[in-house]
Amino acid sequence: MKKRESYAVRISGLGEGVHDFSFELDRQFFALFEQSEIENGRVHAGVVLEKKHGFMSLRFSLQGEVEVVCDRCLESFPTGIDTAQLLFVRTGEVPGEIEDDVLVIGKDDHEIDVRQFLYEFVILALPFKKVHPDDDSGNSLCNPDMLTKLNAHKLKEKDQYDQTDPRWDALKGIIEKNK
Ligand SMILES: [Zn+2]
Repeated sequence: MKKRESYAVRISGLGEGVHDFSFELDRQFFALFEQSEIENGRVHAGVVLEKKHGFMSLRFSLQGEVEVVCDRCLESFPTGIDTAQLLFVRTGEVPGEIEDDVLVIGKDDHEIDVRQFLYEFVILALPFKKVHPDDDSGNSLCNPDMLTKLNAHKLKEKDQYDQTDPRWDALKGIIEKNK
């Protein structure tokens, strides 16, 4: 829990106006999340806190790249992250709650832990389909050896399935009879 302070926006003692914070999201950051689909990355996160009339907003902007696993060949490759998100903050009875993009914090909170938001904004910015892009000539950049291995594995699975499929056994019986 030593790292907790590193991803927090300090709010106590802040005057009205605009305040800048920045965070670097790297391997150490993504390791904080169990079952994270991202293991490594280099993302710069800027957070602009605006305090006005006792109301606060956090403007996040994240740029960089993270490594994701290709859906097709299962090798990791870098994909770009470029996203901006806005979160409003107000004090309330149930700190931690989020209602309609408004984060509720306690009246006496000294800081806002933005770790979870930073992570989720990165996840939201990932492409829907995570597949190696094509090169300039339109050839897939997937690892060809991995694709061959995966296809071989799939065929093997199909063989095993065929052997134990009772419908196939019945069909075999018919074929045998007609010989
Ligand atoms: Zn691939």
